[in-house]
Amino acid sequence: MDKYILEIKDLKKYYKLPRKKIFESPKFLKAVNGVSFKVERGETFGLVGESGCGKSTVGQTIVRLHNSTEGNIIFNGRDITNISGKPLKELRKDLQIIFQDPYSSLNPKKKIGWILEEPLKVHKISGSSERKSRVLSMLEKAGFDKSFASRYPGELSGGQRQRIAILVSLMLNPELIIADEPVSALDVSVQSQILNLMKDLQKDMNLTYIFISHDLNVIYYMSDKIAVMYLGEIVEYGDSESVYKNPKHPYTVSLFSAIPDLDNKDKKRIILSGDIPDPVNPPQGCPFYTRCPYVMDKCKTVKPESKNFEKNHTVKCHLY
Ligand code: SF4
Repeated sequence: MDKYILEIKDLKKYYKLPRKKIFESPKFLKAVNGVSFKVERGETFGLVGESGCGKSTVGQTIVRLHNSTEGNIIFNGRDITNISGKPLKELRKDLQIIFQDPYSSLNPKKKIGWILEEPLKVHKISGSSERKSRVLSMLEKAGFDKSFASRYPGELSGGQRQRIAILVSLMLNPELIIADEPVSALDVSVQSQILNLMKDLQKDMNLTYIFISHDLNVIYYMSDKIAVMYLGEIVEYGDSESVYKNPKHPYTVSLFSAIPDLDNKDKKRIILSGDIPDPVNPPQGCPFYTRCPYVMDKCKTVKPESKNFEKNHTVKCHLY
């Protein structure tokens, strides 16, 4: 079996904008602008960046909620970039997504037992009694009493609802889960419960995660690898320890400077000035040059290439 469950090659996702004048040439919002990475079986791959950097679009394009504009998505050695119809439906068994908002992902009119059983029914998996016993065993895995099967989503707390949303994504025994900001809508006190549940389930069910978040602490806690996104591109990538302890890209350094460090009271927060460029017209050179404290002339016109630091740490910046 291949070591890598997923390979993304030069993925682009552009959205066509409505024309303001009849003869105007079409304009495109470049949400994802040439992203490449590989995900190893059984690991957690963290995607981090500010809101609007394209990280959620990457996740949603991988699970084929959107068609890509260019590039390739290779899952388990098979190119799934353009599949549709029955093959796409079959793919949903192996590739699932968890959304940020459990309120909208659970049908409020159905009981939890029905919601959990539904994916098995849609994919015509096993008979009614087997499906019901799988529902109960999954509830147990997530620390729920069996009685929760007869409750409605509205009777649960936000954390309980997100635990159910996670279980829904696991009902078909998927191999890869894209978790898109799965704890951002929850109180901090509940977040660690959900993260620990996800870690336990990962071990128990041999899952691979792509974990998407704007929260660096959460990303560091969950991930084996971290990719930092800015304006639709990955600007830094590496083993999470290496990126967290020794960030190289000025954007990553500024993100990490916002995390309080109790051992280092002199730590200074880097406040970025300058505007985020328009993703309809991203800069020709480094995407970060309008905000970078170290900008040089060549940054404005020449795109930095990926440079390797350690075995598994790459950065796109002309400083190196
Ligand atoms: Fe800053 Fe230039 Fe590096 Fe971009 S390439 S991060 S502008 S120093």
